[in-house]
Amino acid sequence: MGECIFCKIAAGEIPAVKIYEDDSVLAFKDIDAQAPVHFLLIPKKHIGSILKLTKEDSSLVVHLMEVIKKVAEENGLNQDGFRIVVNTGENGGQTVPHLHFHILGGREMAWPPG
Ligand code: 5GP
Ligand code: ZN
Repeated sequence: MGECIFCKIAAGEIPAVKIYEDDSVLAFKDIDAQAPVHFLLIPKKHIGSILKLTKEDSSLVVHLMEVIKKVAEENGLNQDGFRIVVNTGENGGQTVPHLHFHILGGREMAWPPG
């Protein structure tokens, strides 16, 4: 996945403001924040979207959820709440084809989303 921008961030080849990292996942600040707090959480291994997940990714998916909780708590989002967004495919508005969870907070979110 030589040209994948999030693989490059995971490999340290493109800089990012990291807020959490372990062997399998990385969370970093979105370069174009849409809320006072806007992080992206990615698996380090390349997975194109939620549609590419397999049974073998089960424990990774659970881990991603656990890290969302941890990152939310550590950044004060557990008090007032936050939003998780996973844009998927063209209609979903996905622009980077590497699975990522947006974690947005610090303001009230609108519903329905645009
Ligand atoms: P999507 O539109 O695929 O759901 O979200 C992609 C997100 O990645 C966008 O919010 C965009 O601002 C962010 N993004 C794209 N390129 C970079 C980058 O090089 N660094 C960081 N930190 N975020 C990026
Ligand atoms: Zn990738």
